[in-house]
Amino acid sequence: MLDQELEELRAAIDGELILPGAPAYDEARRVWNGIIDRRPLAVLRCDSTADVTAGIRFARANDVPVAVRGGGHNVAGHGTVDDGIVLDLAALNEVAVDTDSRSVQVGAGATWGQVDAATQQHGLAVPGGVFSRTGVAGLALGGGYGWLRNAYGLTCASLIGAELVTADSEVLDVDSRSYPDLLWALRGGGGNFGVVTRFTFRLHAVGPDVFFLLAFHDARHSGATRGLRAFRHFCATAPNNVSLVALLGVVEDGAPGFPPGTAGRPFIAFAGMFVGDPEEGERLLRPLRKFGEPLYDASGTMPYTEVQKAFDADYPDGGRYYWKSTNIVELNDTAIDLITATATMPASRLSTVDVWHVGGAAAHPVDGAFTTSKAAFLVNPEANWVDAHDDAKNIAWVRGLVTALAPYSDGTRYLNFAGFQEEGTSLMRASFGDHYDRLAAIKGEWDPANLFRLNQNVRPMTV
Ligand code: FAD
Repeated sequence: MLDQELEELRAAIDGELILPGAPAYDEARRVWNGIIDRRPLAVLRCDSTADVTAGIRFARANDVPVAVRGGGHNVAGHGTVDDGIVLDLAALNEVAVDTDSRSVQVGAGATWGQVDAATQQHGLAVPGGVFSRTGVAGLALGGGYGWLRNAYGLTCASLIGAELVTADSEVLDVDSRSYPDLLWALRGGGGNFGVVTRFTFRLHAVGPDVFFLLAFHDARHSGATRGLRAFRHFCATAPNNVSLVALLGVVEDGAPGFPPGTAGRPFIAFAGMFVGDPEEGERLLRPLRKFGEPLYDASGTMPYTEVQKAFDADYPDGGRYYWKSTNIVELNDTAIDLITATATMPASRLSTVDVWHVGGAAAHPVDGAFTTSKAAFLVNPEANWVDAHDDAKNIAWVRGLVTALAPYSDGTRYLNFAGFQEEGTSLMRASFGDHYDRLAAIKGEWDPANLFRLNQNVRPMTV
């Protein structure tokens, strides 16, 4: 099927076209989440913008679904597809810092680790995520919560330009003057509007050394509840230059750094980064660091690039993952009890419930599609496990907490932490709120046939 068309595509590209049966096929079709097992018709490893254009032309001409892959870390597995073509952008990973304009151009296949390494040579950074191996592309297009969020905002708020290949295979140089609507849409509207081949971000002063808090406390004897109440209290007056997350779970077997005999014990951990003088950060965060009976304290002054790798080992490629999130307007005592009860009884010891404090610049409305919730906390149950037999109970554990927290949520989710998006259009409408119709109109203008639909999909509005 389509043999000749695929050979023509192969002849036209700079990169590599990998088809079923090729030695590299199994590796090429794989994404980070081991639950996702799809068999594309072809994986196009793009080496140039022209390759992206050729891939889109092929997909349209042959009515083949398109999956776009930056870092391949989408939790719902949108970076691959059965019987379609994957445009894999990993090789487009050049990072070019311009200190004069305080901006950086980033190839759409770059990871955050690559961006941080380049920008930190100048004491600068783009607000990214909290994991160095995720792709810049999916994270930036969907929002972007990291350690710089309360100081400098979400990733998408620092997006100032992009090279975009549209569904018509046009290559556009998007910025606030050339295509203001498209720039607005790319700031949080996901992969709906075309394939970004290069991003331009504004840079901010960070580090190189920062104070990083990562303190695990014993959560037995209602320590989890007391800890989350203390966290709520601390966040209420925390300055904007600190971004915090509380993580709740149980100590996994053989977890490095934890005392022997503590496997299975419930913990509450406080993690956060202070932008500014590390000594001031240490003083400010001491109440959370010294809150309870310590299990493991990995806090300290360290390079920003190290902070960005602090959780890398916890999310190996090919593990099984199901995550969801919900914005909690009021983290009241009942919501805290629901969170702690779920977190201390996980279906897997690798799982946690993460409570992100969203304040400061992260709480300001973005001049873009991303719709800022009024909630001060984003709750993200993340089920992480190994054995396929345990799929159902882990998925149920995540869904159970999100459902139980519904009375305390404004109904919005962070779409980059959105399970398999089983809620469909209602989830999109709830999460984009007033922005949804404008997004649907822009989608209707640039992708009326919904070629780019393997994503947090906004249906095109047709006039
Ligand atoms: P991919 O799977 O490659 O892409 C995801 C989707 O983005 C694609 O399906 C497509 O729709 C779109 N897309 C990708 N590239 C392009 C492109 N070039 N042009 C147009 N559309 C494109 N999020 C946070 O905000 N903060 C975090 O700290 C954070 N930590 C994470 C840690 C881990 C271990 C993981 C797995 C995820 C984390 N996330 C975090 C969520 C993350 O934002 C999403 O998983 C995101 O989709 C990852 O981007 P990617 O490029 O790796 O994904």
